[in-house]
Amino acid sequence: MAETQGKVITCRAAVAWGPKEPLVIQEICVDPPQEMEVRVKILYTSICHTDLGTWTGVNEAERAFPRILGHEAVGVVESVGEGVKDVKEGDYVIPTFNGECGECRVCKKEVSNLCERYKVDPMKRLMVNDGGTRFSTTTNKDGGSSQSQRIYHFLNTSTFTEYTVLDSACVVKIDPNAPLKQMSLLSCGVSTGVGAAWNTAKVKEGTTTAVFGLGSVGLAVAEGARARGASRIIGVDANASKFEKGKVMGVTDFINPKDLTKPVHERIRELTRGGVDYSFECTGNVDVLREAFLSTHAGWGSTVLVGIYATPRTLPLHPMELFDGRKITGSVFGGFKPKSQLPSFAQQCMKGVVKLEPFITNELPFEKINDAFQLLRDGKSLRCLLQIAKFLKK
Ligand code: NAD
Ligand code: ZN
Ligand code: ZN
Repeated sequence: MAETQGKVITCRAAVAWGPKEPLVIQEICVDPPQEMEVRVKILYTSICHTDLGTWTGVNEAERAFPRILGHEAVGVVESVGEGVKDVKEGDYVIPTFNGECGECRVCKKEVSNLCERYKVDPMKRLMVNDGGTRFSTTTNKDGGSSQSQRIYHFLNTSTFTEYTVLDSACVVKIDPNAPLKQMSLLSCGVSTGVGAAWNTAKVKEGTTTAVFGLGSVGLAVAEGARARGASRIIGVDANASKFEKGKVMGVTDFINPKDLTKPVHERIRELTRGGVDYSFECTGNVDVLREAFLSTHAGWGSTVLVGIYATPRTLPLHPMELFDGRKITGSVFGGFKPKSQLPSFAQQCMKGVVKLEPFITNELPFEKINDAFQLLRDGKSLRCLLQIAKFLKK
């Protein structure tokens, strides 16, 4: 049994104190896990665009500070609360922002991964059990003394910390022999993208695909489509430096909207005799979503939206445009049910069905987390891995 079991742990975390304010690495207190909760020592974490969006505070309703952001990680279980059966101290795990309780009506059906109790909720900042937080400050943001203040949770996970507490529904056990750094990618970006291609669109061999936005999520869509035998994968990005990486993930054609004098969908229709079979929106921009929708073939084209839209603007489509027979749907966490489906997805990744190495473009120590944010903001990284804890593998 861990000597910390049942006790408050004092450790370091990167705390967000306000929109666009640099994160502060500071000491915090982490309470023991309550019933059906798990306390995890985070080994590696990385930054996804959704962390960036929340940190910049574009969507006012989502703002909650001080807060510990982060949702892509890998760690080891330090202790578990009462009733937790499927993980135990010492297990290697990945946190997932979209949980699976295994008992609600949705969890019992195959058709959806949006668990009634633990599905992703960007507004959620408190634990379900008692409406409290498991994090609190020991100092103010300048390191001076102040009354202890609660720190909000984020996206069921909060991984920018040496220790975090999660609902056990959001913790997935992984093979201890798996490459841990790469497993962190399955917490969000890679599972989201590959799953959007495999589970939501169900990309078939010999089909054509267009991917809008070649960050980790979009490139994971491309990698998923490549693995399913798509014959043509058109990558669209306004940052030309993403094209090199795209080739490794099976992208066959590139379009930079800045190089065109016509809308992107017109170019895609020209290239593909009327449009692609599937398109994926992975930028989080509603105007791009319209281009993605119109770039599929009339009659059967299918658009999957994956990007997160912070603006209050609604879908830019005329209802009559749906009479052309194009379909549009959204995908959360790639449609994967985390506990029941990620372990076998991880196995497939380890067998090389999906390549994970190319997604980790940078590595930095935890203290440099603000530099890692900047790399993603500047479009210079896919995933920058931050090592949080040193660990000895058993
Ligand atoms: P990223 O910042 O790494 O990549 C976004 C890419 O889009 C960049 O390469 C950028 O150059 C490109 N881009 C932005 N605006 C563009 C435009 N107008 N035209 C063409 N290209 C443009 O982000 P990421 O981590 O890959 O995440 C992508 C999106 O997916 C984000 O909106 C994120 O919040 C969302 N997301 C959704 C889920 C889900 O479950 N649905 C999960 C994870 C991330
Ligand atoms: Zn994410
Ligand atoms: Zn459920």
